[in-house]
Amino acid sequence: MSDRPFIIIGAGPAGLMAAETIAASGRPVQIYDAMPSPARKLLIAGRGGLNITHSEPLDRFISRYGAARPLFDRLVRAFTPADLRAWCHGLGVETFVGSSGRVFPNSFKASTLLRAWLKRLEGQGVRLFTRHRWTGWDADGALTFDSPAGPVRVSDAAATLLALGGASWPRLGSDGGWTSILKERGVPLAPFRPSNSGFDIAWTPGFLERAEGQPLKRIAVSFAGRTVPGELVVTRSGLEGGALYALSAPLREAIDREGQALLHLDLKPDMNWAQVQNRLARVPPADSLPNRLRKALSLSPPMAPLVREFAGDADLNRSTVLAGLVKALPVTVTGMRGLDRAISSAGGIKLAALDEKLMLGDLPGVFACGEMLDWEAPTGGYLLQGCYASGRAAARGALAWTGA
Ligand SMILES: Cc1cc2nc3c(=O)[nH]c(=O)nc-3n(C[C@H](O)[C@H](O)[C@H](O)COP(=O)(O)OP(=O)(O)OC[C@H]3O[C@@H](n4cnc5c(N)ncnc54)[C@H](O)[C@@H]3O)c2cc1C
Repeated sequence: MSDRPFIIIGAGPAGLMAAETIAASGRPVQIYDAMPSPARKLLIAGRGGLNITHSEPLDRFISRYGAARPLFDRLVRAFTPADLRAWCHGLGVETFVGSSGRVFPNSFKASTLLRAWLKRLEGQGVRLFTRHRWTGWDADGALTFDSPAGPVRVSDAAATLLALGGASWPRLGSDGGWTSILKERGVPLAPFRPSNSGFDIAWTPGFLERAEGQPLKRIAVSFAGRTVPGELVVTRSGLEGGALYALSAPLREAIDREGQALLHLDLKPDMNWAQVQNRLARVPPADSLPNRLRKALSLSPPMAPLVREFAGDADLNRSTVLAGLVKALPVTVTGMRGLDRAISSAGGIKLAALDEKLMLGDLPGVFACGEMLDWEAPTGGYLLQGCYASGRAAARGALAWTGA
């Protein structure tokens, strides 16, 4: 067996999982990352509570990968949400299932998990080189890096695993700069687009004064035949939140095509139209709109200005009209927030460029995993699960390719 190291570029969750998998088989591993410290996006992900995976039935879980489902069916079945939880527990990080079925570390944080993980990798002999930005290959096929000490060449890779991330939150390291290197090598790439990001709405100033920063709880968003229950937040530029993130792909496509998209908010999803109308009809019409919505339907304060914002000249005193708006408030979104603040990105290496080992067909010995591949999934733990599962699969692919 050769002692040539497996080179992993990118020390996010996908790269670290690939490193652990290869090191566990006793092979030498070196990880290179451009940033001064590893897994910065994972740490940021932990700020709002690290949602590591989801507890729903596996078939439903896998359906979340949309167009990339055929690949992720294989990857996630080989490393399931239950495996991921067991892996966390193995690092001394206990997890729990939240009320929505999402899985979190007990501490909610990523830092404890990352610390334990890096310690394990160190114990496995994995060498981590930070501040090493991958710049491509030289004429002799050696990997090249820029480092504070100057250019570095690595010529003896047993195999190379790319885990360079997507292009959202570029300041955390994954800036998509690698695309020019792979493009030059003829690797087919899809342009990066924001995913799991807020949508723009041209609010009136009066509405923002009343509602900016307010949550819209227990609502449902419908678009293109799909309805997603959840919660949204009113932001200065529009709306954000899981219920919209889950509709990222069709909304983005509609905005690309038509410049805007019309979605519908159901402000009272646990009642049908007749029940809503019935309740509204029992409240004196002389009451103010906020009072009627509160008394009849227990709707919170931002709902009344929200209804007004999109009611046009509808007669809100008529309970039938108001019930229609409560059950299907038409909201036009005119754009999507940029990659800078998107939770993830779509685009990257087209899946057709990979063989079943996650090796790039045109670059023998080069494997790719994580968010740099062209797939997207909603928030809910599907992103990290996808990164972990693909990191592990690419590592296994590389081991098999080298005959290890
Ligand atoms: C605010 C926020 C919250 C999130 N919350 C969640 C959550 O709760 N649950 C969830 O499932 N997902 C969440 N995500 C998404 C998740 O963090 C990412 O999908 C995941 O980190 C992607 O992992 P990765 O290993 O593919 O890439 P990354 O984590 O982006 O890592 C890529 C690494 O490659 C390095 N790199 C890039 N280019 C080069 C180069 N040329 N040379 C050397 N190194 C390079 C980068 O420095 C980086 O360290 C969140 C993301 C954000 C931004």
